[in-house]
Amino acid sequence: MMEADIANPSVSIQDLSLNFGAVSVLQTLNLDVAEGEFIVLLGPSGCGKSTLLNCIAGLLDISDGRIFIKGKNVTWEEPKDRGIGMVFQSYALYPQMTVERNLSFGLRVAGVPKEEIAKRIARAAEILQIEPLLQRKPSALSGGQRQRVAIGRALVRDVDVFLFDEPLSNLDAKLRSELRVEIKLLHRRLQNTMIYVTHDQIEAMTLADRIAVMRGGVIQQLDAPQTIYNRPVNRFVAGFLGSPA
Ligand code: ADP
Ligand code: MG
Repeated sequence: MMEADIANPSVSIQDLSLNFGAVSVLQTLNLDVAEGEFIVLLGPSGCGKSTLLNCIAGLLDISDGRIFIKGKNVTWEEPKDRGIGMVFQSYALYPQMTVERNLSFGLRVAGVPKEEIAKRIARAAEILQIEPLLQRKPSALSGGQRQRVAIGRALVRDVDVFLFDEPLSNLDAKLRSELRVEIKLLHRRLQNTMIYVTHDQIEAMTLADRIAVMRGGVIQQLDAPQTIYNRPVNRFVAGFLGSPA
């Protein structure tokens, strides 16, 4: 278990609020994520996990507060300029393109040289074991394979911060536990910063260095899994994740 170095956070969220019209979804939220840390945002449906992730990614304009990534204020930066890679619950692959094209598309648009693209795709394909699938279309892949490709698309961008929004919830139980292990190994190998949204307690307990338990747009507790399990700060956290009393 790593100790979080919060002196130089990889991602720093400061007094972030987000309202949809009159509804406050995130309330003056603060969160520092250390370099290389695996943070899980855990909470019931509707508590604001995806909204928070989308704010970090720059897909939503925040109502108040500031977001820093690697020390840089990115609050008003475009998503593509934030140095993050995002993996969604639905795979969001281009159906008409091969896996290889799906992986290379964003890089071509960004003007990355051909040889560099080939190198990054080869590396991602090796890490995710999708080498035999590169010439297939997404329709010829299983759910687990599609999600590997979706992870690959974040991987080839060569960014330091990965954001995952419930990447396993569309998969059956067996695939879910397999990919959970793979994501853990991926993090060990890459040592990058991960912010991972789930409502699944087992995913949170097995993947996280620290878990942020959310409810109603507020982080209720931010601690290592064992600490949360053994010493939940309130009844909600205890009920959601704590040891049976
Ligand atoms: P979670 O990912 O934890 O399930 P969300 O972040 O998707 O939760 O949603 C948090 C709250 O914000 C929910 O009450 C949801 O209904 C509301 N919400 C999400 N997106 C919008 C939107 N575009 N407009 C209005 N309300 C929204
Ligand atoms: Mg969500």
